[in-house]
Amino acid sequence: MSLRRMTVPLAGVAACAALLVPPGAAQASPIAAPDALGGAGHGRPAKVPVAEGYGGAVATVDLDASKAALGVLRGGGNAMDAAVAGAATLGVTEPYSAGLAGGGFIVYYDARRKKVITIDGREKAPQAMTETAFQENGAAIPFADAVTSGLSAGVPGSVAQWELALRRYGTISLKQALQPAAEVAERGFVVDQTFYDQTAQNAERFADFTSTAALYLPKGAPPPVGSVFRNPDLAATYRELGRRGSGWLYGGRLGEEIVATVKAPPVRPGSARVVRPGLMTVSDLRAYRALERPPTKVGYGPLDVYGMAPPSSGGSTVGEALKILQALPKVGRHEYLEASRLAFADRNKFVGDPGYVDVPLGELLSDGFAKERACLIGDIAMPHPAAPGSPDGSYDGCQFEGRPIDTGDAAKGGEGATGEQPEGPETTHLVVADRWGNVAAYNITIESTGGNGIVVPGRGFLLNNELTDFTFGPAPGDPNLPAPGKRPRSSMAPTIVFKNGTPVLAVGSPGGATIITTVLQILVNRYEFGMSLPDALAAPRASQRNTAATQAEQAFIDRYGAELTARGHTFTLVPGPPVGEIGAATGLEFLGKGKIQAVAEPSRRGGGSALVLEPAKR
Ligand code: GLU
Repeated sequence: MSLRRMTVPLAGVAACAALLVPPGAAQASPIAAPDALGGAGHGRPAKVPVAEGYGGAVATVDLDASKAALGVLRGGGNAMDAAVAGAATLGVTEPYSAGLAGGGFIVYYDARRKKVITIDGREKAPQAMTETAFQENGAAIPFADAVTSGLSAGVPGSVAQWELALRRYGTISLKQALQPAAEVAERGFVVDQTFYDQTAQNAERFADFTSTAALYLPKGAPPPVGSVFRNPDLAATYRELGRRGSGWLYGGRLGEEIVATVKAPPVRPGSARVVRPGLMTVSDLRAYRALERPPTKVGYGPLDVYGMAPPSSGGSTVGEALKILQALPKVGRHEYLEASRLAFADRNKFVGDPGYVDVPLGELLSDGFAKERACLIGDIAMPHPAAPGSPDGSYDGCQFEGRPIDTGDAAKGGEGATGEQPEGPETTHLVVADRWGNVAAYNITIESTGGNGIVVPGRGFLLNNELTDFTFGPAPGDPNLPAPGKRPRSSMAPTIVFKNGTPVLAVGSPGGATIITTVLQILVNRYEFGMSLPDALAAPRASQRNTAATQAEQAFIDRYGAELTARGHTFTLVPGPPVGEIGAATGLEFLGKGKIQAVAEPSRRGGGSALVLEPAKR
């Protein structure tokens, strides 16, 4: 939410610091409620993109969500507690990117166990979904039709993920983690330009569903910038979910309502929209499980980069591209684009849900494969499309010897198989670090901005359309075709970087398949070009995903276009909306001696919010 663009300043309302006490903890861990209405007055944190300090840190795209997460840290909660509370609050203030009926991936460093774990809360296809579910008469249905449909709604993963995350790694209950979000939903948040724009961009389809129009088009139009938007239905849903637990969704009354909405979307009488019904049943909800999975891990010079394993292609594709770069004698922006092109060719060919597809993950991330792929990179951009490689364990040698990576410690200053589809700005990412050294990098999504456009009547949240991430086909052999119970391939790439076994940096972004290139580019900016993390995030972006032209922001083209065009690259602007922007990243870096730098976007999507617990060392 961009308070910078607020037109009607609201008086800061005094926070009522509701205190919660976790079960079994007597009065040990009070969880402070976030401040009311995101006001920056009264000594409360303001929305800034970079914050440095001690004892814990948070970065999200939104001040209310950052405050909710920080409040949990302040009250004694750990990074996992705060990540869940922040995600639930993003479901209120960024409801078109996140929500309880969506999914996501958490990469988490558990400092006590000295272990990186991941939690897969990816949505699943219903059991009734077959390989041809998104085809009619032997051809793919129009992508736009699938986007706004019951058919594209995956079995939601977020609530199961929150419960598992809190049970295994947190210290507070689901009820406690949902309380800050319920409070923000109840008292409201200030509509900023981003929320207004996203509502306006969705207005036509929102108007076609009675429940969605009633919530997001009050008086028939998007709520104006500067007004206070309240969602009492969502507040009540979060509270009841907290009281009843996840079984209320996974098999209970809330689940029945989700299924009823998916099967018979509340289309406005008289609407001409063809809305395909979904296949989800209550049994699908009952069968859903969030999964703890091992992370991907690649060595990158003295660093170890941990990411999200399949069904996300985030960890494997960022990891492969880094390995390719490491195998090259020198790295500039040309090499960044070429390594990304090759890694996407392999991602598209080999990565899908590992429960259904044999993903050659170890080979994709091996030194031998990286060297073989790196040999294909010359002075001039390679012809389009790059063919996938053969991650088969038998690799041709290469003249490159690799080189040391300078970690720059001194620099503190329905996607098709070809990946040709435009990638929007949807989804969101948050990072949290706590005083014990735990770190969370968490991507959350309902897929399109506005999900499938359908609010569950009376419950205040949108359904996801994550199943449009499947390849629609016909595409024989594609690893990402739909199947019963399968998870669609994701690009989400929450990432934590270690040096000598200690976390040094965490980062992630929204943006569909551009998530991968944004995370990769930030790491390249930071570790190859020696930028500070704030500069690495703010720098202009380009995204090469084995497409003929590289998508780029205008500033990237202005700065590097001539040099790269001379080397055979072509560029196209990001279509948007928002026009011309790639990603909305958040990250944090450990600066040494306990100091943490939390970083969000200075301007993309209206700018994000970084907060630290203690600005100065106590
Ligand atoms: N559905 C996307 C993915 O999992 C995330 C949403 C988006 O950013 O497009 O890769």
